[in-house]
Amino acid sequence: MLKIEDKIFTNIYGNNSPNLESAIRRGNWDNTKTLIHKGRDWIIEEMKASGLRGRGGAGFPTGLKWSFMPKEVKDRPHYLVVNADESEPGTCKDREILRNEPHQFIEGCLLASYAMNAHACYVYVRGEYVKERYSLQNAINEAYNTGLVGKNACQSGWDFDIYVHHGAGAYICGEETALLESLEGKKGMPRLKPPFPANCGLYGCPTTVNNVESIAVAPEILRRGAGWFSSLGKPNNTGTKLFCISGHVNTPCNVEEEMGITLRELLEKHAGGVRGGWDNLLAVIPGGSSVPCLPSDQCQNLSMDFDTLKELQSGLGTAAVIVMDKSTDIVRAIARLSYFYKHESCGQCTPCREGTGWMWRVMDRLAKGNASVDEIDTLLQVTKQVEGHTICALGDAAAWPIQGLIRHFRHEIEDRLVQRVFDVN
Ligand code: SF4
Repeated sequence: MLKIEDKIFTNIYGNNSPNLESAIRRGNWDNTKTLIHKGRDWIIEEMKASGLRGRGGAGFPTGLKWSFMPKEVKDRPHYLVVNADESEPGTCKDREILRNEPHQFIEGCLLASYAMNAHACYVYVRGEYVKERYSLQNAINEAYNTGLVGKNACQSGWDFDIYVHHGAGAYICGEETALLESLEGKKGMPRLKPPFPANCGLYGCPTTVNNVESIAVAPEILRRGAGWFSSLGKPNNTGTKLFCISGHVNTPCNVEEEMGITLRELLEKHAGGVRGGWDNLLAVIPGGSSVPCLPSDQCQNLSMDFDTLKELQSGLGTAAVIVMDKSTDIVRAIARLSYFYKHESCGQCTPCREGTGWMWRVMDRLAKGNASVDEIDTLLQVTKQVEGHTICALGDAAAWPIQGLIRHFRHEIEDRLVQRVFDVN
């Protein structure tokens, strides 16, 4: 279990004020100028050495991503864009940072922007996050009024501006290139890659898009050192992580824990355990609605980290743990997720536009027992034709939950179909 002194987010539950005075008491904005004066290369090397992997879902190494930006600013300005769109069902961690730890986050924006030679940072906040936007804007105003951002930010000699942009509530705008399109005032539709944003991002300029949590942990990593961060967690899965625990647990919560904690410890220490006890666990979706579920027998000593979950053909994703006990109709639950992805498809590529609707319709019939057994294999085949054949990862996100269901709960679907035949006859 994570020691109190190793926690990065000490006000995640909002027990203290998010204002500047309170944030400074918690250690934010401490020696920021000194960190900046250590230089760009030092910051990027330290982030690389910390082993931090992006907290938005893909788990790409943050320091490495920062190093992809051009070393020199030429004819185009550089930008940092922060993805605060947080729309993956089950995920609700970034909102707590924006509400309760906004200064930690803004300090991270300054340090990251400096490291990448960006004088401007845009924060794209999910449409439904109204209070979060106000809280962030209040903190930004405080930072401007005290010279922490703006001209000569923190008296470091570096000019830095930060802007908040409010989205309109489309899930797809959480995809980094759709987010950039939306920020430019266009429809939120993902771009074909390459070119990648580090070459051609916002307004055609070099841009890095990072998740809120990845940026918010940067100041503490730089202050306490990469060695401290990498000593937590497991090799290649270092540091702490905000887990969002929802579903059939006694006390759903967000909690910061060490990477690699076991699922059982996570649920029992922080979420009051599975409703009805550990043996009542049916399955868990370990990383937000897009990752395949895992049945209870794979959850016994499950380590919550990127690599372990990948080996099990699932994923840590955003670390949004959705717990399902034995009362769950898991076929119906996954059918509901299929409906969500169908609804959120932007429609610009055929396998996703047609496939998500097709998969949902079949899932809906399977959930009602109104299909034939051989349709299960047809459905699986279609998920493979969608997966990896689309412009963005929404196609995969729609396919994976169904693949997980068929992999682990095929018997549930078959029993339902057979039962229905008996009932009809
Ligand atoms: Fe749009 Fe879906 Fe294609 Fe992504 S995969 S670009 S959401 S149609």
